Order: sequence, then structure tokens, then C-alpha cells
Amino acid sequence: MAPKVAIIGAGFGGLCMAIRLEMAGITSYTVFEKAGNVGGTWRDNSYPGAGCDIPSHLYSYSFEKYASWTRRYPGQPEILGYLEHCADKYDVRRKIRFDTEVVRAAFDGGGWQVTCKPTTTGTSTAGGAGGEVTEEFDVVIAGVGQLNRPHYPDIPGLADFAGTTFHSARWNHAHDLTGRRVAVIGNGSSAAQFIPSVAERAAHLDVYQRTPNWVIPKPDAAFGPLTRLAFHFVPGLQRAYREWIYRYAEGTLYPALAQGWSTGLLRTRALNHLKAQVDDPELRAKLTPGYPPGCKRVVIDSRFYPALTRPNVDVVTDRIVRVTATGVETDQGHREADTIIYGTGFRSTEFLSPIELTGRDGQTLSDQWKQGAEAYLGISVPNFPNLFLLYGPNTNLGHNSIVFMLECQVEHVMNCLPYLWQRGPMEVSARAMAAWSRQLDAAMGRMVWGDGCQSWYKTAEGRVTNNWPGPTPLYRRLTALPPLPAYRFVGADHAKGALSS
Ligand code: FAD
Repeated sequence: MAPKVAIIGAGFGGLCMAIRLEMAGITSYTVFEKAGNVGGTWRDNSYPGAGCDIPSHLYSYSFEKYASWTRRYPGQPEILGYLEHCADKYDVRRKIRFDTEVVRAAFDGGGWQVTCKPTTTGTSTAGGAGGEVTEEFDVVIAGVGQLNRPHYPDIPGLADFAGTTFHSARWNHAHDLTGRRVAVIGNGSSAAQFIPSVAERAAHLDVYQRTPNWVIPKPDAAFGPLTRLAFHFVPGLQRAYREWIYRYAEGTLYPALAQGWSTGLLRTRALNHLKAQVDDPELRAKLTPGYPPGCKRVVIDSRFYPALTRPNVDVVTDRIVRVTATGVETDQGHREADTIIYGTGFRSTEFLSPIELTGRDGQTLSDQWKQGAEAYLGISVPNFPNLFLLYGPNTNLGHNSIVFMLECQVEHVMNCLPYLWQRGPMEVSARAMAAWSRQLDAAMGRMVWGDGCQSWYKTAEGRVTNNWPGPTPLYRRLTALPPLPAYRFVGADHAKGALSS
């Protein structure tokens, strides 16, 4: 017997959890995925130029080496292909309910009542209102990501626009941009990736920039046939390369974010990159940030600046007043557009929203997180027994692979399962949570994210709810610790016995 586990989401996180359960011989799980395929981020972000900015030998599971990567920083189709390969190889698709969205979950004293509904017509509508079905699980594991729900800017008149408009994470591939007059609102990592290809096609492109980003070159390169053969056949080569990338990111990029020895180096590298790629002093001035590097996510891209120097591209820093039927009105006048593309990121600080989660004694997560999301290790929340979060609050990184963090979280959940199965529902104690928050606050004080910029790492009130402020080896050590005594057991009468498949 083993606990009945509900996993929400089939991105890197949810898939990792499902695979790890399979490896342990636990098959009593169901993955709920609101879309029609696995992949999460890498299914949704299919815009031209989409790709990772952590090399894929590291931005992949440690247990699933892949000799098929064609380049250091592969594009979205390859990363999606990798995740599909993992889902097939570990045979987890059979456990995924696609096109099924979890809308709410409530703890009933012993387990979780999970309510889901179909997201497409044609899917079974057995059940209550709107096809809703409620099922009981012992454990809920949320792998819904931090960057899953597109954010649209709060600009008056968005609905008045008469042309075509879409978000980068919902790219309209049917809309040919050739010869168009395009406005891109936003200039972060996604925009930097798709702007070069839009600029090549459009008759004219206006890039609306609120704040410039620090940009460093992307040392991308295709792997030649010999290198790929070597990755395939030389024992230990992939692992050694992965380890090297990891140590480099940890040893040089992390100190820059912690305002340590490499801060100046990062600034110099970015300024040199700008100087090398942009000759026009006026444009260069527009693109020079006035806040410390790393405060917002550093853009890693070598094609972005050259695109901005094209004669058909304008970087517009005038304040946007509103969107009109025919374009964008700024405080300096009206600019025509027939297409608006939003590169405005995601609703990153809302975490599990819009899922309604109700824990012990009727406590709702939205109420508990009114001041901003927080979770012990980014995984467990007081009052919410047997609920575990993957890529939860304060587990995002500005310098290393999220997949590394996800694997740490999955191992922590695996360490908790025998306890909750033997001794009943467990939740993190208020004391452990308070100690965790204090440590987090102290560590946050030395990081660069706090002052000087607005970013998706923090709430409107300025609290950093998304990023992990320490080195990642420390996170691995903390998540690998035995879960007791940070957890307490509630409702011991629900203990089921020894964990077995
Ligand atoms: P996601 O990939 O977001 O998957 C969440 C899944 O949950 C989705 O499939 C979604 O449909 C599903 N879901 C959500 N709500 C529900 C619900 N209620 N019911 C059912 N299913 C639901 N990170 C890096 O480390 N390196 C990079 O280079 C990098 N590049 C990125 C580039 C882009 C453009 C973006 C957007 C993000 C990037 N990231 C990168 C961050 C990336 O999101 C994570 O690395 C990782 O993909 C997160 O995986 P996840 O499974 O936690 O979340």
C-alpha cells in the first residue's frame, strides 16, 4: 500500500515527481495537467527564438543524460522534445489526465478532496457543475510553476486595439508578421529572444522599454558531430561537463547577485557587450541600466542589441499613456501599429492562484499569503498538511538551473512520504516556518534584488517572494536533511502503515 498522490502540472517539476515515484515503485499517483501535452514552460513558450539561458546539459534532469542536444543552449523544440522523451521513457503519460484543470483542493482532516474540471470540449464531463469531479487523495503536490500565467500590463485601452495582439507565451503562429507595423511592449528575457526575428520580418518595430536590462553575451554554439559522439560514448563526459557548468554558475554568477567579488565583473562584461554591439551613443544611453546588475533577471543574449540597431527598429522610452484602436499613445505622441506583442512576463508572485486551497480548520491559502507567499524550504506551508509545492516561494534562481532546485524538492517530498504514511498527515510547524523566514530575511539582506529596481521577483510591496537567496549547494543540503523535527503530525488516527508499492 502506498499513499494516493495528486500531482498538479506536467512540466519539469510534475514530471520529475512522477518519475521519481515510479522509480520508487509507487504507482498510486495521478498527474493533472490542464493542457494537452507535457512540457509546461516549454510547451507554452513557442515564440521564435525561445530557448534556455542555462546550458541544457545542466538544465535537464541529473538522472536522465541526453546525448541528443544539438547545441549548448538548445531552443524550445529540443527542450520540449527532451521532456516528451522523459515522459515516454519512464512511462508516466499513462498516469497523466490531460486537459484537466485542478480548480480547488480542501483538506478534510485525513486527506485532500481535489476538484478538477475538463479544459476542452469533448473531454468527459461526468460529475457536477461544469464537469467538475472531486476525488480523494492522501497527498497533493503542486508543480504549477512560477511562470505559467501570462501577465498583461495595466494600460488603459488594451481592449480598444483593432489589430492583432498576443502574449509571447501564447504566440499567434498564424499571424504573419511580414511587412507589419509591430509594437512590442516589454524588453525582458523573452522579448530579447523574439525581437530579432520580429525585426527581420516587420516593416517597422517599436520596442517599448520602461527600464533597460543588463545584457551579457550568450556563448552559444552548435555541437559538432565529434563532440556529440564524445558525449554519447565517452564515459563520464556529460556528467563532468554538467558539473563544470554548475560550478561556474555557482562560483562566478552567484557572488555577483550576493554583491560579492564578481559584481564589478558582471557590470563590466555587460557594458563591454553593449559597447561592442551598439555604436550610436544615444541608443547606448537608452540601453544603459541605472540599477545594479542582477537586480532584475540579467538577459543572456547576443542577438538582441544588433536587432535594436536595425533601421526599421525604434526603442521607445516615452511613457505609454494608453493603447488606441490603431496603436500606442505615449506622452510624446501617437505611434501607429497593426500588431501588439506583449513580452510582459508572468503573474509570478501569485504562485498557486487561481487554485482555491483550503487547509486545516478552513484556513485558505489566499488568506494566509495575503502579505506574500512563503513556504518552508519553498515546499511546505503551515496549516496545509500533506501539501507540497515544487518551484514554490523563494526557490527561483537568477544564476543556475531550476531543474536542480526541483530535484532537491522532489527528494524532500520522497523523504516525507514514509513518515506521513506511517504517522498520518504532517505539516511544517509554525516554529520551523518562523525560523525559516528569519533566516531567509537575513540572507535576503545581502542580495542585489531588494532596492533600486522593480522586478518579477517581488510583490508590489517590494517583498522578494520568488528568489532563493543562498548558494544552491546549501539548498540541496537543507532539503536533504531528515524532515523531522520541522514537521508535526496532525490526525494520527489516519496512519496507514508501512510504505510499499
Ligand atoms: P511549468 O513549466 O510552468 O509547468 C507547470 C505546469 O502546470 C504547466 O504544464 C501547466 O499547464 C500546469 N498547470 C498549472 N496550473 C494547473 C492546474 N490548476 N491544473 C492542472 N495543471 C496546471 N529556468 C531555468 O532554470 N533556466 C532557463 O534557461 C529558463 N528559461 C526560461 C525561459 C522562459 C521563456 C520561461 C517562461 C521560463 C524559463 N525558466 C528557466 C523557468 C522555467 O519556468 C522553469 O525552469 C521550469 O520550466 C519550471 O517547471 P515547472 O514544472 O515548475 O513549471
